[in-house]
Amino acid sequence: MKNMFDSLRQIVLDVNDATGLEQALNIVVRRTREVLTVAAVSVYFRDEKTDQLVLMASDGLNPRAIGNIRFERGMGLVGLVYDRAEPLNIADAHVHPNYRFVTETDEAAFHSFLGVPIIQHRNVLGVLVVRRSEKRRFSAMIETFLVTLAAQLAGAISYAEKMGELNRLIDGADGHSFNMKGLSGSPGVAIGEALVVFPPASLDAVPDNAISEDEIELQVDAFLSAIDNVEREYKALSQHMESSISSEELALFDVFALMLKSDTLIDVTIERIRAGQWAQGALRETIAEHVRQFDAMEDAYLRERAVDIKDLGRRILMHLQAQQSAYQEITGPVVLVGEEVTVSQFAEVPMQHLVAIISSKGSSLSHVAILSHALGIPSVMGLDNLPVNRIKGQQIVVDGYSGRIFVKPSATILAEFHRLIKEEQALNAELRELVDKPSRTLDGIHIPLHVNTGLLSDISPSLQSGAEGVGLYRTEIPFLMRDGFPGEDEQAEIYRQVLQGFSPRPVTFRTLDIGGDKALPYFPVVEDNPFLGWRGIRIMLDHPEIFLAQIRAILKVNVYQNNLRLMLPMISDVAEVDEAIGLIKKAHKELSEEGIDIPYPVIGLMIEVPSAIYQMDAFARRVDFFSVGSNDLTQYLLAVDRNNKQVAELYNCLHPSVLHSIRHIVDVAKKHDKPVSVCGEMAGDPASALLLVGIGVDSLSMSVGSLLRVKLAIRSFTQAQIEQLCGRALVMESAREVRLLFNEALENAGLGGLVRAGK
Ligand code: PEP
Ligand code: MG
Repeated sequence: MKNMFDSLRQIVLDVNDATGLEQALNIVVRRTREVLTVAAVSVYFRDEKTDQLVLMASDGLNPRAIGNIRFERGMGLVGLVYDRAEPLNIADAHVHPNYRFVTETDEAAFHSFLGVPIIQHRNVLGVLVVRRSEKRRFSAMIETFLVTLAAQLAGAISYAEKMGELNRLIDGADGHSFNMKGLSGSPGVAIGEALVVFPPASLDAVPDNAISEDEIELQVDAFLSAIDNVEREYKALSQHMESSISSEELALFDVFALMLKSDTLIDVTIERIRAGQWAQGALRETIAEHVRQFDAMEDAYLRERAVDIKDLGRRILMHLQAQQSAYQEITGPVVLVGEEVTVSQFAEVPMQHLVAIISSKGSSLSHVAILSHALGIPSVMGLDNLPVNRIKGQQIVVDGYSGRIFVKPSATILAEFHRLIKEEQALNAELRELVDKPSRTLDGIHIPLHVNTGLLSDISPSLQSGAEGVGLYRTEIPFLMRDGFPGEDEQAEIYRQVLQGFSPRPVTFRTLDIGGDKALPYFPVVEDNPFLGWRGIRIMLDHPEIFLAQIRAILKVNVYQNNLRLMLPMISDVAEVDEAIGLIKKAHKELSEEGIDIPYPVIGLMIEVPSAIYQMDAFARRVDFFSVGSNDLTQYLLAVDRNNKQVAELYNCLHPSVLHSIRHIVDVAKKHDKPVSVCGEMAGDPASALLLVGIGVDSLSMSVGSLLRVKLAIRSFTQAQIEQLCGRALVMESAREVRLLFNEALENAGLGGLVRAGK
């Protein structure tokens, strides 16, 4: 039994490596037949156009039947499994009322039949069938095996299918467009050339990249000059060490130099380049080959050399990558593409050329999406089948509203998106007119609009957008971009620039909110459930030295304008508020004792954990303001991980429970005369923003790119109209209905361009 299930894991792994549907299904049938020792195994796969099942692979049936046998839904035993989406295990297929005899498969000899559906995301992708000649039902163990296998295969098979399709389309000379749907990261549309990024100096991350005939010599030269550079480096290192290590140890550098200049490294890599692989890919293969050889050696000393070879490979790669970025000139608009685009990769692309970002991992609430939003660049996340290694240099259309991308777009798609981009530009020009206009409803109710930021580079765009202040300064962003905790003075300098830049407008600094998906590289936290773990204020209260340094740095710079507000994240309990306030008082007292005369700060809480909703009275007695962190509040209320693509469909900030929670928060805060803002991403969505105004939220804080859009929405309705819409929304039973209601209201007001591509 154990062996059987070990084989199951191996089958799934092998299918994961398949490069196309056909290969994947052939692995399934061949390996399943070996493991179960049955007479025949076959897979019928759904043809989406006809809704029929087609025999796609078989081991044991007549191979000539493959591709030629089709079953309608409900027809024959296979069609019955398809229709019921349940396993069917019968001793004698021939006597079953649904049985349809098919001559081409030579199945007359088989009596027992076990068919299980292959289901992904509630859809039946196909049916996996095993057959035997005896008239005997398959054992429960075999049924369990097959059901388990089918459940695990669904993802791998659909991935292989997509990869196969994509590879065909990318390789095909017909220039057909293919499109993929991910998750909207930030709104907007753009067209550009794919610039693929991957983690530097990591050989494993180097993608394949076919080069043309005339690039070969360039790549060979690049490789040879990287080798020369590494040789020089080793020489310099060895000279540097001469006086401090023994001659025996020094000899090691000679060994490195010899390895570096060996034919097996140089010639073999050049051979690979000449065969059409770029230098980095060729190097990756050669090093991997060497490592495999050393790893397999009996002698422990020689096995250790695998580490040296890897180090050597990394050094050569570093030099290759340094040259590569130098001659990779960016001239036109680019779409940044990566498995997981990082903040620093962002920073390397010249801003004037960056038009969009697409990433296989992450969701709209990942940091890269939030940053792209802040910079007004459309992004699409969670494109988990994105063939990152294969699309370098391709033209890509990105629709950040719907989360769709088009690779190698057809002329029609291109024309349509050029039109949409023009319309967006026209809309943006109209929006720019609103910069100095007040954020007021048609009947004059003022709703202050603030920005969310965490980047110094954001200050001028934020000011130019007409923001009335900073509603959320994510202090963790400067912490994320460093190699260690910044000191008090270093922090103070950043905070000073923000406070002065926005003065006299208010700036709300949120104290360090690390943990969850925001791990600092130099402060690793490993947990099974990071979002329910050591996060935000919890870490800060456990590390008062880090918290106090930050509070002191923030308070210190408030000497100039007194426009500072302090905000505490992830509060779930009254005791946390009391302890944090205790530390803030301590920092304030220390500073006064040091002769720095500063006002005591205005303090607020983020309401983003469900337990906080029901302690609002106690909180309101302790602090000055509240800000709803709807990103986390939604995640915790709905028990849906904000970054998990698998459940992204369930994540919705318009869910009735989120809306009623916010209403409760507002009602209690109003009773105590304490203002409430919303600083989650929903505040930047024009439809949701209107709804929040209707609920009674006092101000909204959002990415700078959304500010004028939200302002336009607010300026287009009266408070009474907004409240009337909100009243209807609050009795609705689903997020979908609420979304439709507000989108329709915006369309009717001629503002459809705020919630979809175009004007
Ligand atoms: C939130 O949770 O809504 C929020 C604004 O904070 P963050 O996205 O940084 O967790
Ligand atoms: Mg949060």
